Amino acid sequence: MYIDKLTIDPSWCIIEDVFDVSRVRHNESVMALGTGFMTTRSSFDEGFYDDEQNLTYDRMAMNVSLEVVPSRKSRWGTFIQRVQGKHPFWNIGIVNLPYYLGLEVYSDDERLNMETCRITSYKRWLDMKTATLYRSLVWETVKGKKLELLFTRFMNPDDKFTCVQHLKIRLISGGAAQIRAKSYIDNDVRTNGCDKFTARSVGTCAQHDMIYSDVTANLDDRIFTVSRLVCSKDVPFSATCHDRRVDSVVSFELTDNEEAELLKVSAQAADVYFDRSLLLCEGTKIVEKAISKGFPTLHAAHIARWARNWEASDIEIDAVDEPPYNSQRAIRQSIYHLFRARSTDPRALNCAKGTSSEMYLGSVCWDMEIFFQPFYIYTQPELAKMTHMYRYHMLDGARRSAKSMNYIGARYPWQTDRYGDEVCPMFEYADHEIHITADIAIGLWHYYLNTLDKDYLYNHGLEIIIETARYWTTRADKLTGRPGWHILGVMGPDEYKPITNNNAYTNFVVRENLRLVETVTAMCKADAPDAYKKLRKKLAFDESEISLFNEIADSLTIPKDEERGIIWQCDDFDTAYAEIDIEGLWKDRTKLFGFYTTQEQRYRSKCLKQSDVIALMGLYTEAFTKEEMAASYDYYPPYTIHDSSNSICHNAIVAALIGRPEDAYENWKDSMDIDFGERARASDGIHFANVGGMWQEIVFGFSGMVNALGTEILTFKPCIPEQFKSISFKVVWKGQKVAVSVYHGHLSVKNLSNEPITFVVKGKQAEALPGAETDVEYSL
Ligand code: BGC
Repeated sequence: MYIDKLTIDPSWCIIEDVFDVSRVRHNESVMALGTGFMTTRSSFDEGFYDDEQNLTYDRMAMNVSLEVVPSRKSRWGTFIQRVQGKHPFWNIGIVNLPYYLGLEVYSDDERLNMETCRITSYKRWLDMKTATLYRSLVWETVKGKKLELLFTRFMNPDDKFTCVQHLKIRLISGGAAQIRAKSYIDNDVRTNGCDKFTARSVGTCAQHDMIYSDVTANLDDRIFTVSRLVCSKDVPFSATCHDRRVDSVVSFELTDNEEAELLKVSAQAADVYFDRSLLLCEGTKIVEKAISKGFPTLHAAHIARWARNWEASDIEIDAVDEPPYNSQRAIRQSIYHLFRARSTDPRALNCAKGTSSEMYLGSVCWDMEIFFQPFYIYTQPELAKMTHMYRYHMLDGARRSAKSMNYIGARYPWQTDRYGDEVCPMFEYADHEIHITADIAIGLWHYYLNTLDKDYLYNHGLEIIIETARYWTTRADKLTGRPGWHILGVMGPDEYKPITNNNAYTNFVVRENLRLVETVTAMCKADAPDAYKKLRKKLAFDESEISLFNEIADSLTIPKDEERGIIWQCDDFDTAYAEIDIEGLWKDRTKLFGFYTTQEQRYRSKCLKQSDVIALMGLYTEAFTKEEMAASYDYYPPYTIHDSSNSICHNAIVAALIGRPEDAYENWKDSMDIDFGERARASDGIHFANVGGMWQEIVFGFSGMVNALGTEILTFKPCIPEQFKSISFKVVWKGQKVAVSVYHGHLSVKNLSNEPITFVVKGKQAEALPGAETDVEYSL
């Protein structure tokens, strides 16, 4: 059997042993492939019966977490982040591109179909080490033929717009079988229930083995999809063009124990990346070049490319988890998606679904800076830079947003489209969830603190810092009878409290944003006076503005219960919101709490959609005492229902920091469950913030590495649960690469760079010389 020659390591592979049609959409997301520039959901090559992809429906503005979209067996999806179109109710968002994976297989006119055919020895798995999707099966046809099939699929990040599919098919027994393979492209697809293509056609080239689709989306993006199928048998192809689909067909005979190979290479050439008049030519060139290399060479290059990713960023966890949890595999799933989705194009950044579905329109949220950015900052800083260049490119959009609401400076949208404008259709979020603007400023500062990228900070970052600080001066208010400045009418991270005053998270990050102006202008003036002069002129910036920034920052309050030490989520949180019977109302915990209540009730009650104060503490771990953290940690979790997947990681981090490893582990299990566990809910795409949060839980939580917002020196405060024997990972700390291993009671740092590095473990300072490893004991 072909499969016998392959290694399937459960710590590296997401494995499906049994075909279950109800899991198809979920696994399309979990096993999605991508180059960073283009993502394709992992649909079955041959498709299903009764599974139209042209279902039209209306998506109206609502809480996305509680939305139920019309369900099909599968959801085809290919997305290029920068190809966007207009939706009637949801503004601008990514476009689901023509489907190019189509590869139907027939034996004596019986079509392979996972639901209806007799399939034995089935296994499908995504090998994350090589980012390769495999499917192996034996098909016993109605006519008594037994065929073995091995499908292989991958998308090499270096071949930005290309996908490679390969099929090996062997007749095991049953006497001569007539095999037919039909490769197709289908542009009859919908995005969020609507047809975004205003023009479309299909065609075929030369020998009928090359087919294409040409579509224009409703904001005038033009995309050519080109596929070619080659067969190891020397047989002719025929092609048929339908209205929105084109097929290329090849037929051949197999006799007992004979095999054939099919290679399909597809490319999406969009005019955001290629000359509009040459799209067909460019697409064809990509496909031809790949085909000329042949499958083994293409695959070897792809594997080598992914090996570099893992070498920089793998995490090893030696764990004894209770089944079905697998911490080792789960952290690799998280890292896999973080790489799969990240491009080197600073105008194409990741949405809340890591480009694995259109649910969030491909829009960019605070998820980027706060949840998945740290992974890149500490493992691949050059990819982290993209985040901040992206925000710089979107600065004019933020200026437009501020102006449109009568503010000065720059106010970033809650959800940004490719032009830098707001796409969130709900006013509570778009108007009031304004912490995003400060998240962007502190996010770029976080990037700087670990990379020391002064070029970025002075030539791009400072402009964002000043413009966002200016916005806050017009957004902060004074109150009669209360001193100082206040930020009123905000939605904090907890989206079930829409309009609150002095939200602790918001006030804290705004304060940091405002104070950065003085810090960074002083640095820039000293290090890069010319850049500073240029910027002052460009922004008409006067240093006298700084005193107002500082005045506001110094007077913003972080509401606190002095007696109990609890940080309040907002003014009067304890007394202004109703107690709610969460236990009694939440009948079925496999569903979100939101399904059992109305928005109106959630908005006036003490139920938190997601961590808010705890998110702040998980981010600024050094800004609060252990007692304050513990007091808040004991107060909020009973009210926190985690209807948002962005919620859990900070709970896990804070639990570990206050020395509650078992609580942290319970949170970690909840994080694994979101996309990678048995109750997982990824049908509409990966929860990308949670995926980034999982990396943070291991590195900032259990390993207790203090992020660069909180320390100058590499510092650890480990707290590992009994289920983990050890955690090992690599990070780059201020330009120095280290390998860290955390055990119960001791932690070692191996210095992989050329200068000595100082580090601290629970208050004990140590040094690791270049190439050497230093082990430090710590008390539990
Ligand atoms: C969360 C937000 C998040 C958005 C996108 C919402 O459910 O409440 O915090 O930014 O999803 O992930």
